[in-house]
Amino acid sequence: MKSFEDVIDFHGHICPGLALGYRVSVCALKELIGERASDEELVAIVENNSCAIDAVQIITGCTFGKGNLIFNDYGKQVYTFIKRSSGNSIRISVNWESPKETKEEKYMWNRYIKGDHSNEVLEVVHSKKSDKVNIILNANEDELLKVTKGKMDLPEKAKIYPSLRCSICWEKVMKPKTKVKNGNILCYPCFEKDN
Ligand SMILES: [Zn+2]
Ligand SMILES: [Zn+2]
Repeated sequence: MKSFEDVIDFHGHICPGLALGYRVSVCALKELIGERASDEELVAIVENNSCAIDAVQIITGCTFGKGNLIFNDYGKQVYTFIKRSSGNSIRISVNWESPKETKEEKYMWNRYIKGDHSNEVLEVVHSKKSDKVNIILNANEDELLKVTKGKMDLPEKAKIYPSLRCSICWEKVMKPKTKVKNGNILCYPCFEKDN
């Protein structure tokens, strides 16, 4: 299995979101397929598009390109995995509360958000971040994650549609992703610009 270091390599930095995604993915693999995970076995449905998803892609092998990573834009720290062969599923909801910030940390964080990247500020922000990462990586699974097992139908496979030409930009676009305006076929970006 890939390690947390592999995940950091791919993502480009270390952060609490990445650590959460890592814990979620390790839990899903352990519960659904054990150590020897093969890329094609799982389908992941993720409900956010945060840093965590990079960990999901590296650890579980579910990726957008392969079509076994589905993104529902619900803004929730919820991850569902389905094993193709059995239909067994696991829904993992992150139940973690980050530790309360001290007054000083809040003050530094505010300065950071406003663009103050002085050493004084960075030191506090970075040490807070790495504290969080350590807490997440070492937390008990049952305190960190709420896990529900069940059975689920696989989501429909992505269909292949014919391509049409947008009558404004002339780029090719899948038929179900077109709009018709005054009898012309438009892609979404052109339709929105033209409105
Ligand atoms: Zn990140
Ligand atoms: Zn267009």
